[in-house]
Amino acid sequence: MCIFCKIIAGEIPNKTILEDENFLAFEDINPSANIHALIIPKVHIQSFNEMTPNIMANMTTFIQEVALTLGVKSDGYRLITNIGTNGGQEVEHIHFHMLAGEKLGPIYKK
Ligand code: 5GP
Ligand code: ZN
Repeated sequence: MCIFCKIIAGEIPNKTILEDENFLAFEDINPSANIHALIIPKVHIQSFNEMTPNIMANMTTFIQEVALTLGVKSDGYRLITNIGTNGGQEVEHIHFHMLAGEKLGPIYKK
């Protein structure tokens, strides 16, 4: 079982921000911004490459609810999903990073 599936199963503790039957948002253990949430589907999907339009549609609504819950919707935030080796994906269970709570720097520096 992957590490995020273990979190979903309750085998690894997490700081939950928002949860419904299909998705979970929780605090990143090693935050890259003042607010750093991870948002995942409860079904194991390796990366964005394997996402379906149906799950993505429902996840869109959930992500917007996470932004509301965190109080960052109007001030703004950044969503990132890393894909594969060159994308820098370390956990092979699709997740969106939500970075917020400060004015973020440039998205990419060589
Ligand atoms: P990736 O590099 O795959 O896009 O991001 C993986 C993220 O998962 C990293 O930001 C890392 O800090 C986070 N992470 C890894 N293991 C755990 C964990 O056990 N709990 C939590 N809350 N976050 C984790
Ligand atoms: Zn998984």
